Amino acid sequence: MKTIGLIGGMSWESTVTYYQQLNRLVKEKLGGLHSARIVLYSVEFEEIEACQSAGDWDRSAAILSDAARALERAGAELILICTNTMHKVYPQIQAAVKVPLLHIADATADALEGAGISTVALLGTKYTMCQDFYKQKLIDRGIEVLIPGEADVELVNRVIFDELCLGIQNTASKAEFLRIIEDLTARGAQGVILGCTEIGLLIGQADTSLPVFDTTLIHAGRASELSLLP
Ligand code: GLU
Repeated sequence: MKTIGLIGGMSWESTVTYYQQLNRLVKEKLGGLHSARIVLYSVEFEEIEACQSAGDWDRSAAILSDAARALERAGAELILICTNTMHKVYPQIQAAVKVPLLHIADATADALEGAGISTVALLGTKYTMCQDFYKQKLIDRGIEVLIPGEADVELVNRVIFDELCLGIQNTASKAEFLRIIEDLTARGAQGVILGCTEIGLLIGQADTSLPVFDTTLIHAGRASELSLLP
């Protein structure tokens, strides 16, 4: 079994899900007391968020590249950046290590293709929804990406940083997310990407008839498969 390195803590609320899911999947596959081999480097999120707000992506890339190098030294054979947003600096982090980094949008595009989805709604931080670094990966695979209108982009982003990353699950915010998903369905979405690793803490497949693609579960699932390849 390969050792998986996690660059986590962005936020730690969703890193918990990665840790649980990776272990659950190995247990399901191998049974008994089997569990995933994991090395976790959990960053100080306040520092990363400050870089995001200031647009200082170079500084965040340097911090996360140091984390990746530490994971490599610790024996990681496959590394995950446990957030969609920080894939903005994926190229710099991948360039810092020899170990492969599994891109969360590649894993998600594979899942969408597998489900035959050609038009998809994307919910995430304003960086993920509005900038190209993430969407382009899907567009390059022939998938059309729909995002909410301006006011709803702000709403989703606010709920992520002011509630979900702080461990708060609010019923009114859940209703707003479901309304936004309905709007995007009416605009032609055949599925919705939970493109922020905390959104699965608020909503899931049980809440909507639209197929849900939870990037945390997809990313962890693919990593688990790769770690068990001979
Ligand atoms: N975990 C979130 C994501 O998947 C947001 C936190 C961050 O800005 O990294 O994008």
